[in-house]
Amino acid sequence: MKRKDNNKMQKIVTVDLGPRSYDVRIGRDLLDQLGPIAAKIVGPGQVAVISESAVAELYGQRAVDSLTAAGMDAWLVSFPAGEVNKTLPTASKLLDQLLSRTPAIDRMTLIVALGGGVTGDLGGFVAATALRGLRWLQCPTTLLSDVDASVGGKTGVDHSAGKNLIGAFHQPSGVLVDVEALRTLSKAELANGLAECVKHAIIRDAKLLDFIEEHTDALLEETEDGKPAFDSDIMIDLIARNVTIKSDVVAGDERESAGRADLNFGHTIGHAIETFVGYENIRHGEAVALGIIAENQLAVNRGLLEPATAERVSKALGRLALPVQQPHLDGGQLWRIMQHDKKARGGKVRIVLAKKLGSVDIYDDITEPEIHRAIDPLSPQ
Ligand code: NAD
Repeated sequence: MKRKDNNKMQKIVTVDLGPRSYDVRIGRDLLDQLGPIAAKIVGPGQVAVISESAVAELYGQRAVDSLTAAGMDAWLVSFPAGEVNKTLPTASKLLDQLLSRTPAIDRMTLIVALGGGVTGDLGGFVAATALRGLRWLQCPTTLLSDVDASVGGKTGVDHSAGKNLIGAFHQPSGVLVDVEALRTLSKAELANGLAECVKHAIIRDAKLLDFIEEHTDALLEETEDGKPAFDSDIMIDLIARNVTIKSDVVAGDERESAGRADLNFGHTIGHAIETFVGYENIRHGEAVALGIIAENQLAVNRGLLEPATAERVSKALGRLALPVQQPHLDGGQLWRIMQHDKKARGGKVRIVLAKKLGSVDIYDDITEPEIHRAIDPLSPQ
């Protein structure tokens, strides 16, 4: 990873993957630069903008206009919003639309995925499979996809047997993060992404937690009618710091063999809570916040982490409008869910634990009684 050309308006983080390296540009109103950036990659060719219904309505035309103004033959292909639509049948419908296009698409056709993590995963998967692989640009529009899903090239869809079980590694040719697109998100969706930012701070960068704590109010500021009114420069800085961490981890382990496991911090117990409570009843970031608190308690109980650090992290999560308690959890059931997690090995539960801010290790000797005690702080007294 390198950072270059950085100034107040725009930051660029390069994801270093040899021949598959690409830039993540983070700034204001970058959607209007989509055309020139796309034209640099494929010349004046065809561009299909894949977007989900809600985002297509908000930003689809602007993306197409920018591409058209740069001399490209651009059109919008949309699908219904929501995780329930991140499926093979939706991918198949999108491929049908691409393949029935006149004039026909070819290997120079570019895909733009415009939307949150669902669109990035699905649009990237379509790009990976159409004509055995087309180049693609990712334009994330949620904070979660800005700081997490936009880096790493994991694309795919869900299956009835589980989330993200079908897919491919297919790195984009570039990522454009327009922070102004975040102004139409709800506070809860912003908080969803902030949970991943806290995770990044704990696994790699203690100073990032200082930054988040210092700027919590500026990040969550709202207009009188409840719209996000964050300071753009602070948001750009926050996203650039997180993309830098994620891209460093990905660069060390592009196809997820070992090092990327650190990114699972907060997620082992978090995923179990998500499954226990029901995906429709809790946002991913909310479950991750609870998972971080429980995993930190586990580390404290093992004598690995200072209790004061665990308390500090819980307080920071609470100030970020994330839940810090979840009543009626059942430690036995969480344990059984974790044993069946796709990341468990031979029934052994593996958890990434913090030793101090910025430093984690993976443990595979976790026991069921430890899980019972780890979730104690999540129960209201
Ligand atoms: P999402 O794409 O469903 O977006 C969340 C909600 O925000 C949706 O209702 C959407 O319509 C709305 N939305 C998106 N952008 C908006 C905007 N600018 N203004 C107003 N509303 C907007 O979900 P998400 O939280 O962005 O991402 C979750 C998905 O990302 C999951 O499917 C997860 O598996 C995937 N993911 C992938 C990776 C990866 O590395 N590929 C990493 C993390 C998560």
